[in-house]
Amino acid sequence: MVLLLEDLVGLHMLKVRESNLMLERCIQLLQVVIAAGGHGHLEQPSSAMSWEEPAVRSFIRTNSCTCNLVSACGYGKDWHKNWMFASTFAALQDIAFQCPHLQGSHPPTKPSQVL
Ligand SMILES: [Zn+2]
Repeated sequence: MVLLLEDLVGLHMLKVRESNLMLERCIQLLQVVIAAGGHGHLEQPSSAMSWEEPAVRSFIRTNSCTCNLVSACGYGKDWHKNWMFASTFAALQDIAFQCPHLQGSHPPTKPSQVL
C-alpha cells in the first residue's frame, strides 16, 4: 500500500481531531464531577501542547485549579519525565516535585531519544 502525502496529512489531522474530541469529553466529565461536589484532576505530560487548548485553559481558570509539576525522579524513577496535574484539590500540591538534576542526568524514556 502506498500512502500519498495528502493521505498522511489527512490521517494526522484525523488523529489530532480525535485527540481534541477526547480531551474535550474528559473536561466535560470533570465538569460533571465538580458540579456534583467532587474534585477534578487533569493529567498530561508537562510538555503537552494541549495545555494551550482553550477548553483546558478555561477548565483551569473556571475551577481555580492548581497546576502541579511532578518529576519521575522525585518518586524513585531515574527517568527524564514530567507530568502536570491541574486539580481542584489544593492538597494535591503536596505531590509536586521538580527535578533538581542537570539536563542529561536521567536516561531517556523513549526509544526515539536513544541515539
Ligand atoms: Zn531528576
